[in-house]
Amino acid sequence: MAYWTGWLCNCVNRVSTPDMIGEFDLITEFFSSHSAGRQDIVLGIGDDAAVLRPAPGDDLVVSTDTLCQGTHFTEDMPAHALGYRALAVNLSDMAAMGAEPLWCTLALSLPGVDRAWLAGFSSGFFQLARQFDVALVGGDTVCAPLATTVTIHGRAGPDASVLRSGAQAGDGIFITGHPGDALAGRKILENDPAIIPAHFPDRPVAANDELLPELIDRFLYPRPRVSEGRSLAGIASAMIDISDGLHADLVKLLSASGTGALLDAGHLPVSESLVQWAGRSEAVHFALSGGDDYELCFTVPPGAEKQLCEQTAAWQCTVTRIGTVTSEAAVRWQQDGRPLPVDDAGYDHFGGGADA
Ligand code: ADP
Ligand code: MG
Repeated sequence: MAYWTGWLCNCVNRVSTPDMIGEFDLITEFFSSHSAGRQDIVLGIGDDAAVLRPAPGDDLVVSTDTLCQGTHFTEDMPAHALGYRALAVNLSDMAAMGAEPLWCTLALSLPGVDRAWLAGFSSGFFQLARQFDVALVGGDTVCAPLATTVTIHGRAGPDASVLRSGAQAGDGIFITGHPGDALAGRKILENDPAIIPAHFPDRPVAANDELLPELIDRFLYPRPRVSEGRSLAGIASAMIDISDGLHADLVKLLSASGTGALLDAGHLPVSESLVQWAGRSEAVHFALSGGDDYELCFTVPPGAEKQLCEQTAAWQCTVTRIGTVTSEAAVRWQQDGRPLPVDDAGYDHFGGGADA
């Protein structure tokens, strides 16, 4: 943008001299020089727009997510974890569509130029980009309160995307991984931000401390279930990723499908770490209400369960059946044979729970 350099000068003036860097040098040093090439990129970073060449016949699948300081992360979020998360939440959306991620753009609002921070952010971002062979093909960089917006483009076969709206009565309801761990990790950090550098050495050991790194890691570094989501195309009737909490997101899927569900909280795959840290009954509450898990919740028709088993045998993560889709609209949870009341707006046990 034409007025960018002026904005950048303002930023630079507020920080120490070693961080002085021009707009294009910044983009080159921290972004374009790290982006992997792909055969389907005609033109990447550097011109007014990227030029991309989707394979003929593919459906293009597009999604955007913004993360703002104060809303989605706190000031003390490590730069590496923020760079990782900026891409992870978008990859998770591709996973939830059963799509293959290909290219992304990054709009970055920075309050100033801090080379060490940018190096950390860039290394977290590209760690994940390399892992999933996603190319950064453009973006924007402005001086403003810290925020990131990633737009991701992926591919799916014609009409092969897995929508939220396809669940039918009788389908099984499944979840990957261990929901609730990320909320525990977030709460640990909120109560003691000093843990972050000590994720990590040089901190006095307290009771249950050995559990903390694992739970914190589940919050800071969610694993987007990309290969799992792709392998569900043609098997799952509906799918969503869990960003706002299992119950709240499952309600979105079921209402898009015009169905309800009967679910058993006793089948929730709570991790041993979460049970040890929070106790079994709290662990169930965390699993129901916890945001930031980025696990996949999906439905599978009875006739496709054999195919599902064949696919999941190769997965790195667990998959658990937690209930059945019903034709009546209500979403009913049970535990030990008794009804378990859960608020449709999201489980409110913690007075707020997941991020927007
Ligand atoms: P314009 O003024 O035409 O919008 P810019 O000067 O903002 O272009 O950006 C120059 C080039 O750098 C473009 O190709 C743009 O996509 C890319 N770019 C800008 N910021 C970023 C970023 N944070 N990450 C990756 N590419 C970026
Ligand atoms: Mg231009």
